[in-house]
Amino acid sequence: MARIAYVNGAFERIGEARVPVEDRGYQFADGVYEVVLVIGRRMWDAEGHFERWRRSLKELSIDAPMGEPAMRAIVKKLVRRNRLSDALVYMQATRGVAVRNHAFPTTPTSPSIVMTARPFSLAAADRVAAKGVGVILTEDIRWGRVDIKSTSLLPNAIAKDAARRAGAVEAWLHRDGDITEGASSNAWIVDAEGRLVTHPKGNAILGGITRASVIACAEELQLQVVERPFSVEEARAAREAFITSATNLVTPVVRIDDGEIGDGAPGPIALRLREAYVSRSRRLSEPS
Ligand code: PMP
Repeated sequence: MARIAYVNGAFERIGEARVPVEDRGYQFADGVYEVVLVIGRRMWDAEGHFERWRRSLKELSIDAPMGEPAMRAIVKKLVRRNRLSDALVYMQATRGVAVRNHAFPTTPTSPSIVMTARPFSLAAADRVAAKGVGVILTEDIRWGRVDIKSTSLLPNAIAKDAARRAGAVEAWLHRDGDITEGASSNAWIVDAEGRLVTHPKGNAILGGITRASVIACAEELQLQVVERPFSVEEARAAREAFITSATNLVTPVVRIDDGEIGDGAPGPIALRLREAYVSRSRRLSEPS
């Protein structure tokens, strides 16, 4: 069955869906996006993702192409039309179409919106988590506003490709000796005292929605969370390490470059947090 995309008001076969060549998203990466996990046709962490979507648009002065209720309705339809139950839904808005000039168009453009869905298997993701993943370390060469979820992802793509070539799943980015985050996930370690450590929010990381939910889970489990930068050395010496994102949920990291983390097996705290995150998300995504 052909995959179906939503493009500016219409559902179309993905291979036939088109956007204009002068869309500023295409020429300047002048747009924002979100990735939301849908399990059993229900969005996980929906409020957080929509809130960040609105914030990213606002930071870039892009008008919201539509409101949240309309977006939720389209996500539902898109998942159904693709005959999916569990899916990763991608949504992207750009400033719209204008003659190519760097400065924002002075006559108002109407923002473009595109949504796509692809199958997601929680069972397959669980198998990956049960083994743990490797990460590589690479320099964080991104711009100064990575808190905005912009489609400008070339440095992330370069880092991720280096990870793939090294047989790793993620690249952890470092700046001035500290790990900021992963190329498409937030980075965490567990220190010798059993405290969870992750980079504080701010302009240097994307404030992950999963990250925020995992902090809530940690509190429920009475685990201490310290939001502070941690160094490359601390990461290599960590008792446990893991990544969080809508796509990875909580996934243990068992190798950084060529060095094992702990005994090279997924850590118990990371696995507990994964379980807690899954049950919390199921609970909160149930209709009230
Ligand atoms: N950091 C970056 C750079 C990301 O691309 C992502 C995934 N979108 C995350 C963190 C995790 O964010 P979330 O938990 O909202 O998926």
